Amino acid sequence: MQAEIIAIGTELVLGATVDTNSAYLARRLATVGVGVQRITLVGDEHATIVAAVREALTRAPLVICSGGLGPTADDLTREAIAAATNRPLVFHQTLLDAIAARFAALGRPMSPSNRQQAYVPQDAIIIHNPHGTAPAFVVEHEGRLVAALPGVPQELQFLMDQALLPLLRERLGLHEVLLVREVQVSGMSEAQAGERIADLMAGANPVVGISAKRGRYTIRIAARAADEGAARALIEPVLATIAARFQGNLLDQESLEQRVGRRLLEHGARLALIESDPAIPVLRALSEVDGRQALALALVRPDLVPTADYAATARAEAERLLAESRSTIALVALVEPGAATLRQAAVALATHERAEPIVVTRGIDFGLPDAHAFVATLALDLLRRQLEPVEPAT
Ligand code: AMP
Ligand code: MG
Repeated sequence: MQAEIIAIGTELVLGATVDTNSAYLARRLATVGVGVQRITLVGDEHATIVAAVREALTRAPLVICSGGLGPTADDLTREAIAAATNRPLVFHQTLLDAIAARFAALGRPMSPSNRQQAYVPQDAIIIHNPHGTAPAFVVEHEGRLVAALPGVPQELQFLMDQALLPLLRERLGLHEVLLVREVQVSGMSEAQAGERIADLMAGANPVVGISAKRGRYTIRIAARAADEGAARALIEPVLATIAARFQGNLLDQESLEQRVGRRLLEHGARLALIESDPAIPVLRALSEVDGRQALALALVRPDLVPTADYAATARAEAERLLAESRSTIALVALVEPGAATLRQAAVALATHERAEPIVVTRGIDFGLPDAHAFVATLALDLLRRQLEPVEPAT
């Protein structure tokens, strides 16, 4: 089944508030096998909301609205849904009593404007809101459903999980589940990663997708099935294929820094680190994981202005760091310190077992702060490869 979401609020279309409610609703709908085909943002304007609801109802059997249920004059969702579904608003004394009781319990006076929150469209299913004054509701219109949830994220999330989702399951006979597994991959380009799963991405169930950020990749495997066991059975063989194809590049559920931290501890390693710019977040990443104990020395060296030969500078510094610190691994991440745009980076790793440090250089063609994060990923992945039995980095 397909649904549409309408997020209502002028603050959203102004960009002052980021619409996180729609993302939440979409994720939760996915768990019951409902796909979201469109998300619309509209300001607090009656005619615009009415039009958005009407249009969404022509396309989808389920429309969920967020926001605009408050007591102020710009809270127009009740009126708009009533108008879009050709029915009047009806006053409910029980709702007003509940609102009054809430204010009494808080020891605060209720304002006259709260009275409008006791109105809902005729024949709506009312969903009481124990965390706020605005009740949510669902209207059935020509065999389709329009639901309205309050905009405050905690209230919306609570009412979605506790009331609306169970109601939709029952009303719409939603018995499918959507199970999503994500695995992390590193140490390759996005194109390389994509090529290895191109055939899997063509499949319909499970759906396989990849997203990239700063040299790290998340492969997402999503299966629809009658129950969780059946969905798991669809995912398992795909996971096995991915594990076989990515081998040493597969981090599975761990993040890159978690993996590196774990390996450092397993090896009893002592790591010495130089970053030429404090914005390269290798130290920050490692200091947040189990394994930070292995960090014997970390230096920020903005004086380390690379010569034209980045690789030579990084190699020499890694050798010197290993010799001068009492560490088992020396790692150097080198960019032009303080530069507003990076063009190049070099990462070098030295150990006592290696005659020569390993050096990796990269040209960079994207801006800060992603470029710094990319260099950190490069350095962490080099370190990971040193600590794991995988093919050496290039
Ligand atoms: P409302 O129900 O429209 O009165 O919204 C109450 C508050 O919830 C607003 O002031 C926003 O801070 C927040 N809010 C409303 N809509 C959203 C949304 N789509 N995403 C995140 N926060 C929201
Ligand atoms: Mg609002």
